[in-house]
Amino acid sequence: MIRMAHFKKNGCKKLYSNNQLKVIPMKTLRLILGDQLNRNHSWFNTPDQNKLYFMAEMRQETDYVTHHIQKIIGFFAAMRAFAEDLREQGHEVIYLNLDHPDNTQDLQANLLAQIKKHHITQFEYLEPDEFRLDHQLKNICKNLDLPSHCEDTEHFYTSKKELEEFFQGKKQMIMESFYRSMRKKHQILMLDGKPEGDQWNFDQDNRKKWKGSPDIPAIVHCNNEVGDLIKLLKKEGVNSIGNLQNETLDWPINLTQAENLLDYFCEHLLENFGNYQDAMHTQEHFLFHSRLSFALNTKIISPKRVIDKAIETYRKQTSPKISMNQLEGFVRQILGWREYMRGIYWKEMPTYKNLNRLENQNALPDFYWTADTKMNCMHHAIKQSLDHAYAHHIQRLMITGNYALLTQSHPDQVDQWYLGIYIDAIEWVELPNTRGMSQWADGGIVATKPYVSSGNYIQKMSNYCDSCQYNHKKKTGEDACPFNSLYWNFLSEKQAHFSKNNRMAMMLSLLRKMDKNELSDIKKRAQHIMANPQLY
Ligand code: FAD
Ligand code: SF4
Repeated sequence: MIRMAHFKKNGCKKLYSNNQLKVIPMKTLRLILGDQLNRNHSWFNTPDQNKLYFMAEMRQETDYVTHHIQKIIGFFAAMRAFAEDLREQGHEVIYLNLDHPDNTQDLQANLLAQIKKHHITQFEYLEPDEFRLDHQLKNICKNLDLPSHCEDTEHFYTSKKELEEFFQGKKQMIMESFYRSMRKKHQILMLDGKPEGDQWNFDQDNRKKWKGSPDIPAIVHCNNEVGDLIKLLKKEGVNSIGNLQNETLDWPINLTQAENLLDYFCEHLLENFGNYQDAMHTQEHFLFHSRLSFALNTKIISPKRVIDKAIETYRKQTSPKISMNQLEGFVRQILGWREYMRGIYWKEMPTYKNLNRLENQNALPDFYWTADTKMNCMHHAIKQSLDHAYAHHIQRLMITGNYALLTQSHPDQVDQWYLGIYIDAIEWVELPNTRGMSQWADGGIVATKPYVSSGNYIQKMSNYCDSCQYNHKKKTGEDACPFNSLYWNFLSEKQAHFSKNNRMAMMLSLLRKMDKNELSDIKKRAQHIMANPQLY
């Protein structure tokens, strides 16, 4: 039995075991989580034989929600590629596959077993981005009989607490003011203390519908063969949703692939990114979006690298194609929204996860898992999510999110769906987007008004309504667009929550002016839709 241990500066420790002195080298176990694949982290600067890296595919992670199959496979494939990369650089890595006999499937049990097996004298980990893992690791460390240490992932522009400090004493946490301060602090698109292009925000220019042009160049593919991983998940009985065609994963699993995607985006898509940011189309799933969120959220590529490359492309163009409003629109998503959402998450958790300000209680309709609905917009947005583990921001916000809110679905169920289905869904970014921005369950912390709309908006921004059996102009009648009656019913039922909200004043005034009989018919139809979602 080990009775006493103490450390020496030369990287060795003395152990007194059964009254005999043994000198054994100090060995540090360093944990790398599946979303911490940052090969440029200072941890990996120089290989050190006294540092042992540990990675594991675990049921604890595959099962906390039902994930899309591409998401589980994307994480495992990227983790495996990262472990290989570290080994090639000379680092020592223990990697437990899902079916490895030593894998207990639980983080704590795995760590304790490895600590014992390798006579570990110190434990280190990188700051987790999810509350549940942060909590779990803090608990593990509390009970460890060795020193432990937590390091920054060196990934984000801001620290977890920076947003909280920025908004201290201010009434509202508006993204725009946070974003402007980030632009100034990091000197991004700034000239002599002023925003480049003399404007902070070009959002009003970014509202075009895509009608088949400009052309979208053939997309760059990643083509990762993942047949072995599919078999592994099947063998181990891991539950999942969604589809994966031809045993090929089309998401980047290493830095080279992420850089290729970034190059393709900057070269071909950035010039139209802002213009068509809100557009939706039945034939084009990605339009001018970057598809970089998975690589960013797994930390394969850094937000700084993405922003620097976009700015560099803008500056180097010889015949100007990329205008400032395209570039600024893109920078804002990453430097603004992404960092802002992370700050909100860490400021508001853990209570945020249970907020339900509008007291919505309905079940999310079954067709969210099948795309089996007559509403063309919903069918396309869901089918694409099932096929590609992807929908762009406006599809998530103004189609599936809009419908979930209008049907007054419980935010827990909405969260579970969003957390499961998207390749980029990790709680720190999924939760404020879903519960906050999309479902207004936080009572306006993220969004100053709920993102709800009738069919009109969908018709304006997409071609979905053109081939839909419903009529986007009608509120009542068999062929009336369900979004219309649901929209007015939502305003009518939830108006007390918005009575002091200036941004809702115009819609509420229209509601009050509505003919009573018409409103009653609209509400009847909405109730029928909510009670019988499978019929629509
Ligand atoms: P692009 O349109 O090319 O944008 C570039 C990058 O900007 C994205 O890769 C992303 O990193 C960042 N970005 C853009 N908008 C946001 C935003 N609102 N919040 C944070 N980052 C943003 N994003 C996730 O990364 N994970 C999620 O789980 C997630 N869940 C969402 C749920 C809902 C209900 C909504 C409305 C949005 C959600 N988003 C989420 C934000 C956004 O939809 C995705 O980041 C984006 O669609 C990813 O595709 P892209 O890489 O092609 O993005
Ligand atoms: Fe969607 Fe309504 Fe348009 Fe059909 S008519 S696509 S349901 S918005």
